[in-house]
Amino acid sequence: MSEAFEAPAGAGLTAGQYKDMVLKAGQEPEVFWLEQARKLVWHVPPQQASRSDFTGDVRVDWFSDGYLNVSENCLDRHVRSQPDKLALIWQGQDEDQKESLTYQELHARVCRLANVLRRLGVKKGDCVAIHLPMVVEGIIGMLACARIGAVHVVLFGGFSAEGLAERLSDSGAVLVLTADVARRGDKRIPSKTIMDEAIARCGAESRVRHVLVVSVTGADVPMQPERDLFYTDEVAQEQPDCPAESMSAQDPLFLLYTSGSTGRPKGLVHGSGGYLVWAAFTHATVFDHKPDDIFWCTADTSWITGHTYVVYGPLANGGTILVYEGLPSWPAPGRWWDVIDQYGVTVFYSSPTVVRGVMREGNDVVRSRSLASLRVIGTVGEPISPEAWQWFHDEVGKGRCPVVDTWWQTETGGVMITAAAGCVTPRPGAACLPLPGVRATLLDTQGQVVDGAGEGLLCMAASWPGQALSIWKDHDRFRQTYFTTCPGYYFTGDGARREADGYYWITGRVDDVVNVSGHRIGTAEIEDAVAMDHEVVESAAVGIPHDLKGQGLVVFVVPKEEGVFHPSAVNRAVAEGVGRYAVPEKIYVVRDLPKTRSGKIVRRLLRKIAMHDLEGLGDLSTLADPEIVPELIAQVKAQG
Ligand code: ATP
Ligand code: MG
Repeated sequence: MSEAFEAPAGAGLTAGQYKDMVLKAGQEPEVFWLEQARKLVWHVPPQQASRSDFTGDVRVDWFSDGYLNVSENCLDRHVRSQPDKLALIWQGQDEDQKESLTYQELHARVCRLANVLRRLGVKKGDCVAIHLPMVVEGIIGMLACARIGAVHVVLFGGFSAEGLAERLSDSGAVLVLTADVARRGDKRIPSKTIMDEAIARCGAESRVRHVLVVSVTGADVPMQPERDLFYTDEVAQEQPDCPAESMSAQDPLFLLYTSGSTGRPKGLVHGSGGYLVWAAFTHATVFDHKPDDIFWCTADTSWITGHTYVVYGPLANGGTILVYEGLPSWPAPGRWWDVIDQYGVTVFYSSPTVVRGVMREGNDVVRSRSLASLRVIGTVGEPISPEAWQWFHDEVGKGRCPVVDTWWQTETGGVMITAAAGCVTPRPGAACLPLPGVRATLLDTQGQVVDGAGEGLLCMAASWPGQALSIWKDHDRFRQTYFTTCPGYYFTGDGARREADGYYWITGRVDDVVNVSGHRIGTAEIEDAVAMDHEVVESAAVGIPHDLKGQGLVVFVVPKEEGVFHPSAVNRAVAEGVGRYAVPEKIYVVRDLPKTRSGKIVRRLLRKIAMHDLEGLGDLSTLADPEIVPELIAQVKAQG
């Protein structure tokens, strides 16, 4: 096993060097990816990169003759070279709740928990559910699973018992890590009680043998004898050392359910070797990682972004991560800006929905903070409108930080299309350029490759190391979902436009494309245009059947100030930004939009509400706030 820690290629590159890397990864992918892989620590180094195949049964296969352990790569090798470096800074939502862990300390805590898991009978390949708010035990839990070869499935703390039960049954989790109670601003979520109900709902299908309870608030919770144990009691009995399991690169590291924006969530399986290579490589490349960085990715760990850029990417690269438990504007607007100033955060990676939310608070809030430590800022999750991009750049980045809008998916494991900081010139609102080794391609609806400038279905012509291996226990659904629309290609489900010089613009999900009198319009195009109206903070466009036009557009808008809104301004903005044919049939003014836990707008729900089709609204468990649904229905009814 090699001892030295070698930084992945990507950080500190000039634009020219980056271009060379894109060329090399394109021309000699085997050589390029083996070089990247060898920067990790392996028990058996791989001799081959990809043996993936998008035809037939479909196989995603990376470094498959190699053996490694992911937690050793994220911890042990840094303990050897920089034991006292801070790995994790945690700040709770109350000022006095905080903790900092060096690599040595994080390693010890991970090992203790890994020993507990082993003692409780968790074996390599078993699935462990993690249902915790943003506390250190969530991250320790993920790394402890990785250490013993258990497959983690992180479940959103805000899920209902029903949502949890579905995922517990599907994953077959044998152990659950949960909290007594989770805090969310003033709200308290009785996590343990909800988990008890979820396990009860699984009935005979439940394989859960133990529930480990982390005391977050110290509240009293019902404990079932034998099954339920307190986390602190258990880890106190264990040693701070634990031998790591040797895993094949293809062994699953985790299973994670998609956001469910479009339907029943898919439990995607990510492997150990390819995923970690991709996490480390993209973290270094996209954010131009520097050893002194304080890296804050604001995503919840129950989202893929939280896996790759809160935990695995930055820790594989020996970085320092910041984890903040609370909301952006609780107890008061500007809370996140204060966290940045307090800890000297250098990289801030968040989402368009957060940017839109803080924009709404007005410029004084952000202008009264320094934010001088920031070096790179980024977003992920949805298209960001050019207007919001510019605001983020000017007000948060103070005009000096590169903004990285990053396009990727649960399925891709890490960033795929972006303007890598310091290497690619960004364009506000564009996803920009594919990363080295990403063979993005556009296909038209006949399945023909679109050359040069044009528009089409966004596909990948070849595998990349971070690609998900399968859907948990349902490889056929994996094959059908991603590899049948465009045979021989991975189909992302998104549409995109490409400029002559190769820059990509995501137009939205293909399912969301609206066809008005033969004009195909991406929802993102409409929403970008609506964003030009300064009275509107957020909007969502959907298509509903229309007798003459085939489909008509309906737009839901959230005004900046309650009661202040002029539909004519929206119509004008759309007519000017997209075309007269795209002027909406109907505009509904609403207080908020239905969103997934990761802040994505759930258009399928809005479509049904706009059509007054209230039967079978589908799986609402993926919504961050299911209570928004009756409110929306009432608001739409009232507006006719
Ligand atoms: P489901 O697949 O269950 O419907 P989901 O697609 O929302 O859920 P994720 O994997 O979290 O689940 O999201 C990936 C999708 O988010 C992408 O396919 C794309 O539609 C959108 N997306 C992510 N980042 C960006 C971005 N930077 N620009 C535009 N769209 C983005
Ligand atoms: Mg998806």
